[in-house]
Amino acid sequence: MKTRWYGIARKITPLFFGGLLFFGILYQNYIMIMALMASSLLFGAFHCGWICPFGYLQEMLGLLGRKLRLPLITVPGKIDRFLRFFRYILMALSFLGLGIVYFLNTPFTATMGFLSGSAGAVTGGIGALWGSFLVLSLFTERAFCRYICAEGARHGILSMARIVTIKRDGDSCIDCGACDRACPMGITVSAVKQVRNGQCINCFECLQACPMNKKSKTLSYGWAFGKPPKKLNESPAKPEGE
Ligand code: SF4
Ligand code: SF4
Repeated sequence: MKTRWYGIARKITPLFFGGLLFFGILYQNYIMIMALMASSLLFGAFHCGWICPFGYLQEMLGLLGRKLRLPLITVPGKIDRFLRFFRYILMALSFLGLGIVYFLNTPFTATMGFLSGSAGAVTGGIGALWGSFLVLSLFTERAFCRYICAEGARHGILSMARIVTIKRDGDSCIDCGACDRACPMGITVSAVKQVRNGQCINCFECLQACPMNKKSKTLSYGWAFGKPPKKLNESPAKPEGE
């Protein structure tokens, strides 16, 4: 699979945003938080795929796991669909200010706290939880993002109204399922015309994996209400009378 420019860029941007966090520019600033939320509403959850340092850590460990040839655990479809609801329940509970939500979300908040200089956040049971999700990342893709993260759930809910999204051209699609297998969030991309799923993190792994993208725009990221791409081998319309 050819790595495209966005595949490389996405490996660098979380380091940049981690730097912003370190200097107190990200998350400690309401304008920044509102801008991140607005971008999810319009363009999808770039926050999770391109910015979040804990998502980045999980992804890098996942790559390490594949390099070390560790077994990749795939959560069976029905269990996966059931577990996915959990982060939305945690998100709803977070509005009530319940401590359990804070505790379960500490891998995310501890990473943010660590980068912004309050390393004391990673202690005791919290540290164990943080570490256990990192170890889990060696064997399964983004388990914390998929099932636990209330912050990701907020961005995911907003992203369902996105006006720019992943689009699939059913005419040139050969139903090979490569996009489904590449998706770290377990989305069945091959079954939809547009990805409008709260789990999508805009990682574009599906675009990179699609074998048809070499010759057509079978999978693309663009304006949700635009015209569908032209069919493969479609000839221009003949003028009337010919
Ligand atoms: S692989 Fe595609 S559908 Fe899956 S999360 Fe990434 S961008 Fe979204
Ligand atoms: S990878 Fe491309 S061709 Fe294969 S099922 Fe997905 S969209 Fe269709």
